[in-house]
Amino acid sequence: MSRGIWRTLRPRGMAFRVGILVLASTLATSAAISWVSVGSLEGFLRSRIDQNFPELLESSHGRLDLWYRQRVLDFEVFSRSEIVSAAQHSRPNSVSEVTRYLEFLLASFPQYEGLLITGADNETWISVGAHPELPGSVVAELARVDGPTVTGLHDFGGSRKQVVAVPLDEGPHKHLLVGIVPLAALAEPILAPDLFDSMVGMIDASGALVAGEIPVRSLAGVPLTDGVQVLDDGTGGQFVIAARPLGRFNWQLVVSQDYGTAFAPVQETVDRTLVTNLFLGLISSLLVLGLVAWRMQPIIRLVEGAKRIADGDDDVRVSEMGTFDEVGQLARAFNEMSERLAGNRRELETRNQELISANEVLEQLSITDGLTKLHNHRHFQDQFAKEAKRTERNGDPMCLILIDIDDFKKLNDRLGHSAGDRVLEGVAQVMNSLTRETDYLARYGGEEFAMILPKTDLEGAISLAEKMRLGISRLEVPVTGGDGWVQVTASFGVSRYRESTFVTFEAADKALYEAKGSGKDCVIPAGED
Ligand code: GH3
Ligand code: MG
Ligand code: MG
Repeated sequence: MSRGIWRTLRPRGMAFRVGILVLASTLATSAAISWVSVGSLEGFLRSRIDQNFPELLESSHGRLDLWYRQRVLDFEVFSRSEIVSAAQHSRPNSVSEVTRYLEFLLASFPQYEGLLITGADNETWISVGAHPELPGSVVAELARVDGPTVTGLHDFGGSRKQVVAVPLDEGPHKHLLVGIVPLAALAEPILAPDLFDSMVGMIDASGALVAGEIPVRSLAGVPLTDGVQVLDDGTGGQFVIAARPLGRFNWQLVVSQDYGTAFAPVQETVDRTLVTNLFLGLISSLLVLGLVAWRMQPIIRLVEGAKRIADGDDDVRVSEMGTFDEVGQLARAFNEMSERLAGNRRELETRNQELISANEVLEQLSITDGLTKLHNHRHFQDQFAKEAKRTERNGDPMCLILIDIDDFKKLNDRLGHSAGDRVLEGVAQVMNSLTRETDYLARYGGEEFAMILPKTDLEGAISLAEKMRLGISRLEVPVTGGDGWVQVTASFGVSRYRESTFVTFEAADKALYEAKGSGKDCVIPAGED
């Protein structure tokens, strides 16, 4: 995965959110499907139990009934044996014969634990197998027997057993052929359930288990019906149960199953559905996460591009490759916008530059004299103040020269103002050509000029003024009218810098005045007071 995709996988990013949404919706769908399928599976299992339990009850009942009837039949057959009939007549040699016969029967019919014949006084006459002496309760019940019978349970020294009896003769002191049947004989295969994992049991009238199995110790007080019921086992579990009367001994036949076992496929389905759906949910979430992250890359590039533009970078282009959908359109629109923005910014910069240049020109114009192109009066004042401060700070010498063209009024009057203007230009040019870079020359006003000479002493200033005076006097300015050219002179007043600009200017002006008074065309330094 490229670095770009990782950038889209932020926890608050779109891809992550869509992934979580898919996972949540998959899990919700899974829960709904589980709920529905569990419901129908539970219904199916319940209907199967509703069908199977009564069938199992019926088949178990049929087997038990047959078994008990078989016992009665056994005894009817045994009793018709001649050997047994002989016992009725109490033939002395018949005892051993009858005993052998009973031993044979005991060996042939494993259902019986013991066989015996009671005598006229209800006491055991002959017995084979277990329990040669019958408990009193049995003896009492057998006294009332007048046909083939199977009794209820009797206590045989700690274990409960049933007794099968058939009278061998009639009358109050009859003989009885008696068989002792242990309940274990019923367990297999009579009570063995043919339904997988279900239990079949018999309970007596008090709800206590007689034979087989039930899920609780006793079913006393449990309202049993022939329909299938779900009951609590008292330990937090449940079981499914159905019952029907046995039709003998006031017992009931019961079929039951642990709820968890009966509905195990439900839990299994829930577990399997959840695990499968969780797995599918995770896989689809990851796929969606990857897909959205991949598709989000151009958008992330757009976001980053927009940020760069916001930060002032106008040369931003995003890739339009592989995006033919709305994102592609957005990328193209973004690039167009960025290009237009860059164009606008370039134009703005050009306009700004032009404005700056125009301002510079204006600035220059505002400090320049239009005719002579020298600095103007206002600029001179600023410059003079500035240089004065520097001189005061450094202690360097500085001089001021004031220049005034001689008899200029007359020249104007004689040749016109236009000629006068040419002369002003010519004089300015000459003086400018003699000025060093560090010197400063300005038109003070009219035909008067001023010059500041930083780091120059009075001597140097006089010397420069002299050079200028000479230069001006040699200048021949071409004019219309007159001789076609004209010559002028100028007077110079020079002063070193004194305690202030005002005092210095006054001193130079005074010197200039003196120069005019001394016949003009000369340089006069200001006197030292
Ligand atoms: P002085 O020798 O004493 O300096 O006498 P002057 O005539 O030169 O001085 P004055 O102050 O009497 O006259 C100055 C003249 O300069 C008056 C004015 O018409 C003229 N002048 C001032 N500015 C200009 C200008 O820009 N162009 C022209 N042609 N003349 C100007
Ligand atoms: Mg003047
Ligand atoms: Mg003058």
